[in-house]
Amino acid sequence: MDIQAHINEVWPKLHDLAEPAFKEVKTAAFLADFLRKLGYDVTENVGNTTALTAVLDSGKPGPTVAVRTDMDCLLFKNEDGSLEPIHACGHDAHMTIALGVAKLLKEQGLACGRVKILCQPAEEIGRGALAMLKAGALDDVQYALGYHVMPKDMARSGQIIAQINWTACTLMEGEIRGLAAHGSQPHLGVNAIDAGAAIVNAINALHSNPLLGGSIKTTRFMGGAGSLNAICDKVSIGFDLRSTSNAEMLELRRKVEEIVVNTAKVYGAEADCHIVGTCPAAEADPSVLALTQEVISA
Ligand SMILES: [Zn+2]
Repeated sequence: MDIQAHINEVWPKLHDLAEPAFKEVKTAAFLADFLRKLGYDVTENVGNTTALTAVLDSGKPGPTVAVRTDMDCLLFKNEDGSLEPIHACGHDAHMTIALGVAKLLKEQGLACGRVKILCQPAEEIGRGALAMLKAGALDDVQYALGYHVMPKDMARSGQIIAQINWTACTLMEGEIRGLAAHGSQPHLGVNAIDAGAAIVNAINALHSNPLLGGSIKTTRFMGGAGSLNAICDKVSIGFDLRSTSNAEMLELRRKVEEIVVNTAKVYGAEADCHIVGTCPAAEADPSVLALTQEVISA
């Protein structure tokens, strides 16, 4: 297979199709058509979404190995406020790779088992994989391989690495409730901004294990929008938490919640904190990781 010819043929088309989460209709049709022509058994509209799977069966016993690509693009705001779909996260490249793998495997033939190409919608909003899981698309899969194009700084020793250590992410938000009072009588109120400021400092003193590359940041602090002579009684606060370890992420969430609730209490305020969104870090199968490493070296 001529890899460059494959890229030249497929990538510009996928790049131009650029459709956002769960709207990858033309993109999915293009992938389905390409895979069907190769001789793959294609199932479209998996889980009533734009997702599709394509299977190549050797007819001999063996595992089912999945190769996964995402399909959606990002939406950018133009100066006039209109939204423009652009493949800026590289999912056009991921799809080109998946089709290349499918073509190569068809040409070489499978020694055993089955290969299942997973074309996943809505990666950018974190819901496409879940939709495919719920539809049972991975029920017959023993091994799944994913990949992502990446700035070179992570692959210090070359062009490809066996594992990308994306971090787990948790977004949390909370509310600090004090007591309103007039600026001339601060002793009668509870200033939610004072409690909030102490919370931000305490959060900044939280540290993720440097080896795990995580971080905790205050990403929202809103309050006191009213009159300048009023003691603020409400602050809305938010945080972004990262860690490459799912175990550490659980710990960080617990600490953030503890800091928010207990620090507010010290100031005579009340506070709560809850999770708004979360995405776990991928945990690689050590045996597949070792094999991938071997293949890359070869
Ligand atoms: Zn991406």
